[in-house]
Amino acid sequence: MTPGATMSDETLSNLLHEKRTFAPPASLVAAANVTQADYDEAARDRLAFWAKQAQRLTWAEPFTEVLDDSNPPFYRWFADGKLNAAYNCVDRHVEAGKGDKVALHWVGEPLEDTRDLTYADLQREVSKAANAYESLGVGAGDCVAIYMPMIPEAIVAMLAAARIGAIHTVVFGGFSAEALAARVEDCGAKLIVTSDGGYRRGAASALKPAVDEAIQKVEAVSPGQVENVLVVRRTGQEVAFDPSIDTWWHETVDSASDQHTPEAFEAEHPLYVMYTSGTTGKPKGIKHTTGGYLTQAAYTHWAQFDLKPETDVYWCTADIGWVTGHSYIVYGPLANGATQVLYEGTPDAPERGRWWKIIQDYKVSLFYTAPTAIRSFMKQGDTVPASYDLSSLRVIGSVGEPINPEAYVWYRTVIGGSGNGGEGTPIIDTWWQTETGATMMTPLPGVTAGKPGSAMLAVPGIEVDVVNDEGVPVGDGQGGYLVVTSPWPSMLRTIWGDDERYVDTYWSRFKEQGYYFAGDGAKKDEDGDIWVLGRVDDVMNVSGHRLSTTEIESALVSHPMVAEAAVVGATDPDTGQAPVAYVILRESAGDGGADIAKVLSDHVRSEIGPIAKPRQIMIVPELPKTRSGKIMRRLLRDVAEKRVVGDTTTLADAGIMDLIAAGAATST
Ligand code: ATP
Ligand code: MG
Repeated sequence: MTPGATMSDETLSNLLHEKRTFAPPASLVAAANVTQADYDEAARDRLAFWAKQAQRLTWAEPFTEVLDDSNPPFYRWFADGKLNAAYNCVDRHVEAGKGDKVALHWVGEPLEDTRDLTYADLQREVSKAANAYESLGVGAGDCVAIYMPMIPEAIVAMLAAARIGAIHTVVFGGFSAEALAARVEDCGAKLIVTSDGGYRRGAASALKPAVDEAIQKVEAVSPGQVENVLVVRRTGQEVAFDPSIDTWWHETVDSASDQHTPEAFEAEHPLYVMYTSGTTGKPKGIKHTTGGYLTQAAYTHWAQFDLKPETDVYWCTADIGWVTGHSYIVYGPLANGATQVLYEGTPDAPERGRWWKIIQDYKVSLFYTAPTAIRSFMKQGDTVPASYDLSSLRVIGSVGEPINPEAYVWYRTVIGGSGNGGEGTPIIDTWWQTETGATMMTPLPGVTAGKPGSAMLAVPGIEVDVVNDEGVPVGDGQGGYLVVTSPWPSMLRTIWGDDERYVDTYWSRFKEQGYYFAGDGAKKDEDGDIWVLGRVDDVMNVSGHRLSTTEIESALVSHPMVAEAAVVGATDPDTGQAPVAYVILRESAGDGGADIAKVLSDHVRSEIGPIAKPRQIMIVPELPKTRSGKIMRRLLRDVAEKRVVGDTTTLADAGIMDLIAAGAATST
């Protein structure tokens, strides 16, 4: 704590001083979708700005009121307007003469297994699936669970639900039967759409058995709830088939009529329920509705990628099982009539350059991925990406975690270096959450100079701040809690079936001010730009200083031998808590040498000061991550404090915790 500060006004210490900036390339500025004038316009009249952005959509009945804030925090947007989400993502492009435009360049994991779908193809497929759903007794307000690999039918399955007003809940195909059952039961799904399997890491991996098992679990608590399972044949592998509940997609959907008239639903009609990643605890079922969500997804996708729908080829590597896949594979890009790549498999199948080959082959110009992927490529080195032509790139994005400055610079130079005619490719570091539905903060590529590691500022029409314990905005150079200070169109409407938890989790911390509490820590730099510092839960208190794990991790990653780092605060008899670091080395560093721990801890001391110097550094082969690629620090805290490791059900690889715990037991 700074001298004179009291416990109640202490804020996050501001440790790391990153000074590099990257100005937008001149060619991008010259034709940018968004300029400073848009920020000014939104600042003058936020609601008028969003009313204007809503005109990107086609409304069956226009709205007369933008925001209904009569019952906070249960806000309603464009509530008396009506529209159909699937019509907006598909049919209207066909009606506008763009039926032959490619919507999806689908790339299967096996080489040469590709398929292009135009908007007209999508319209036929979605119409057929909508008819099939209706023939299976699914209608408006019913819930459809989708448990699929990254194949076009997954998107068709989502849009078909939206088309008939059914609510979809997509469950990541890597989740267990238990996780699937919990979500199916929580949202009351009566139809499950799945496939026999999908391709992962060079082999067919089964999905249907997990559905069979999940149904048994759901039957035990909610008999008869799931009425039908619709199964896409993707791999052709043998699956159990129970004709009383199972139906093949290629029979039921393919034989249905490709004519279907979309009905208009109220703007506040629920579109989907998406469960959060579960990084910090039990996943929450986040409810999103139609009009406001689609408005902000479409606007931000167009603004943040500087989308030129006629010429750009867009690719987002997220899985549709995460909110990023919903907003930035399905709803944003398709509402905007974009052409995009959809890839089924893993980044390294059949070889390490697979992603870069896809960018080269399809001349991808807009690319969106996560820091975890960037760090894993950084670990492998520069040679693989250097052997591909990546000069088609114009804008590249990051989402999911704070991006370490070093990973940002690597991404910008090694992946983006040849883009924009050699001027380099701006990075949009987009901060948002399942709950926010769409991007809330990011530099815009034609306006804002990027700083490595900073999400910079709110998008036009969005209001965020960093506040202290009392809800008072902190000054420049200080840290605190990230809040959203006014409602936004794509905001969550509640936690499915639990309004009380919705109010408690997000709106009680700063009740008096009426701010949305995001659960993340952040700081403002000397220019007032915002840096997200990770979860408030992960903040540690070392001798009275509140330190963010993110800054110590970024200091470690700035060492040339380090690819990735996770830092946690462990109980310490002298300092209250002390940083403990788990580090993955770059391949070029070998085992790092005998004194690696000392080298790295001295590096942290020189980068940010003695207070942040880790008490212990462990070199590990992998880190515990959620299926969406986020580091689960609470498990590492258990190891550092020598406790039994907690709930690992949302871990991508539970075995990794045994390895780390065994390593910790033998290290000093
Ligand atoms: P749970 O809420 O169940 O613990 P989760 O928070 O991981 O899961 P998501 O909604 O997928 O679920 O993740 C949102 C969080 O991801 C944010 O609150 C933030 O911590 C982090 N995040 C996302 N994008 C960024 C970014 N650009 N910079 C920093 N942090 C980010
Ligand atoms: Mg969260």
